[in-house]
Amino acid sequence: MIDAHQIKNIGEEFGIDDIKITTAQPFRGAAVRITKQRDAGLYLNSETWHRRDITDFCNVRTVLPKAKSIIAACQCYLTDEETNTGTPGNPHGLVARYTWRNHYRDLKIRLGKVAGVLNDKYSAECVVYSNGAIAEKPIAERSGIGYYGKHSIIIHQQFGSWIVLGEIVTDIDIEADAPTSVDCGDCVKCIDECPTRAIIEPYVIDRRKCMQALTNWYGVLPEEIARVWGNRLYGCSLCQDVCPANSHVERSLPRTDLGFVGPSVPLVEILTMQEDEYRKKYANNQMTARWINFKSIQRNAIVALGNIRDPKTLPLLRKLTKHHDTVIARSARWAADNF
Ligand code: SF4
Ligand code: SF4
Repeated sequence: MIDAHQIKNIGEEFGIDDIKITTAQPFRGAAVRITKQRDAGLYLNSETWHRRDITDFCNVRTVLPKAKSIIAACQCYLTDEETNTGTPGNPHGLVARYTWRNHYRDLKIRLGKVAGVLNDKYSAECVVYSNGAIAEKPIAERSGIGYYGKHSIIIHQQFGSWIVLGEIVTDIDIEADAPTSVDCGDCVKCIDECPTRAIIEPYVIDRRKCMQALTNWYGVLPEEIARVWGNRLYGCSLCQDVCPANSHVERSLPRTDLGFVGPSVPLVEILTMQEDEYRKKYANNQMTARWINFKSIQRNAIVALGNIRDPKTLPLLRKLTKHHDTVIARSARWAADNF
């Protein structure tokens, strides 16, 4: 069995913030939990991963049959930059902090380098993920990377929930870490402060109400969601912003500048550009991942403009009420009527 410290030292050499190890045993509890939530209709039809066999999704041996260990990693994205919400006449839409840069791809590249060393040193076979179709949060929890917050996001003791996750599934046998015994205690701040009441009970999110999940859902946002949408363009992190477990996290320099988008984006531009221009301008960021629906992003921009109510944008919104896409047209009608 390989000493876990050796693997962690390699991770550190490649600038990875934290690495823990768990076994490749299936995540049976997670499979039961996810299936129950899916069957209760809590996921969106735009999220295709849950249509897979959930038992397979929660078993890394479906991707590497001889897997023995999972190397779980995280990278912190909390920086000391301020958010920029635009200026009158040029309203901007907020981009959730985890999307300011492509930390997923950055972590995957770093993990790929770790996998290269493991291959050279131990002839290890490795499959590398970050933001991939693998049970990332259960892996992070069992390995001790962090614990589930009641908002269903993993919280690391040093970096809070400001982390992206990544994994290497491998056929080498590495000494496993233990899960952490820390939890949220009596706190319910994220449940109380979620503007859409999407956290329906501790650890259970109704993704049909969650603005983070709805970012890429194609459809007209229900009135009660649109009203509290604010000036979001991509994602929501309010439950993380209010979380006491995040208050102590030290802000630092960005780990990468890959796919830099920044904290906010001009909204009128999003509504006047073609999809190929959008994909070019924000290339390498998850905002242009292949599963992102450009029309959903434009819908978000419209709802944001309806909440910002900058008079200069009203003619554009009125024009969009005639758009051939009914989601765009109906969203623009809501936005224009909101002035
Ligand atoms: S991401 Fe936003 S909408 Fe979703 S649970 Fe958190 S606060 Fe609520
Ligand atoms: S706000 Fe409180 S309950 Fe929610 S995740 Fe943070 S510590 Fe847990």
